[in-house]
Amino acid sequence: MILFLDFDGVLHPAVCTSDTELLCRRPLLESVLRECPQVEIVISSTWRESRTLPQLQALFSPDVGVRIIGITPLWQDVQDETSMGTYVRQAEIEAWLRHAGRTWEPWVALDDQPWLFRPFLPNLLRSDPVTGLTEEVCATLRQRLHGA
Ligand SMILES: [Mg+2]
Repeated sequence: MILFLDFDGVLHPAVCTSDTELLCRRPLLESVLRECPQVEIVISSTWRESRTLPQLQALFSPDVGVRIIGITPLWQDVQDETSMGTYVRQAEIEAWLRHAGRTWEPWVALDDQPWLFRPFLPNLLRSDPVTGLTEEVCATLRQRLHGA
């Protein structure tokens, strides 16, 4: 099971009013992930464009950070191998799965921007960009991650 993780609108409100809000939902996510040790994490957030994998891992508690195994490729590097059109983030995720040889593996994308994915995609779990992760979304996430 792989969790493709967005940051803005998930780990904090999409619009943060202060730096102290950044990553404020991280403890909530980490508590779910500790209940699901079989889950590996791949970063799909735009934060991957300006940070290395070790820098992204360091944003999390060490026991969760080591479970971040990669970042999705950038759209400009995969657009020629996909017919996904405007569903950019889903195309990046599927390219990562292809390149990793893991296309048959179950996965969940946690994201606040559903228009970056094909409509009604069952793998997408949507958070509210106004709040980021909530207990309610985490309850669904827990079920999905345990479902594999
Ligand atoms: Mg987002």
